Amino acid sequence: MNMALKPDPTEKMMFQLTLRRRGVSDQAVLRTMEEVPREMFVDPRDRNEAYRDSALAIACGQTISQPFVVAYMTEQLQLQKDHRVLEIGTGSGYQAAVLSRLCKQVLTIERYRTLADGARKRLEKLGYYNIEVLLGDGFDIPAGAGDFDRIIVTAAMEQIPEKLLERLDPGGILIAPVGPHQGTQTLVRVVRTENGFDRKELVDVRFVPALPGIAREL
Ligand code: SAH
Repeated sequence: MNMALKPDPTEKMMFQLTLRRRGVSDQAVLRTMEEVPREMFVDPRDRNEAYRDSALAIACGQTISQPFVVAYMTEQLQLQKDHRVLEIGTGSGYQAAVLSRLCKQVLTIERYRTLADGARKRLEKLGYYNIEVLLGDGFDIPAGAGDFDRIIVTAAMEQIPEKLLERLDPGGILIAPVGPHQGTQTLVRVVRTENGFDRKELVDVRFVPALPGIAREL
């Protein structure tokens, strides 16, 4: 057995403490962060770093987000067991795995084939059966995918497309990093109300950019 695969219990305890200290308090979210094996989503060379609170490089020049940001965004979504959730930016599949434990179904979209195929295989192998991974463009969600209770964007958008907001069910919540591709972005939370959209800025973050179209490189 490869011992590098087994996270040190002290490390996992520190991981929980860090999330709590930074303000994550939802017990279901904290439990899920404890249960989803982040070491299986990072590059195998980085397994020893999996429980540090930092983003790590994955294939195609992309990143797996910092655990605090994953937990915080998940908490802000206020997920319920019957929710259908859309994620734009599958990357490693880690955020999708976390979401899937707290809702009914996740549709996650990724523009790199290598990442989409990798995440699909990994999620299947780990037993996350309520996640569908789609190769596609988050700026152009297929109409057949329907509407969603929650939408989470995990790549920085210069602005939130109107078309995307229209895919939220009434009472739905969208969370996305918004801002210039280079530099600081702000996490924005939008709630669809009876008469429109309520928008609130949360915290500053750094994400890789959301780019249009399916990537031509693998
Ligand atoms: N949520 C991921 C990290 C996302 S990194 C995780 O948990 O590992 C952002 C991802 O968004 C990258 O993989 C990038 O290729 C993807 N992306 C960027 N623009 C996109 C678009 N228009 N449609 C779909 N995916 C996109």
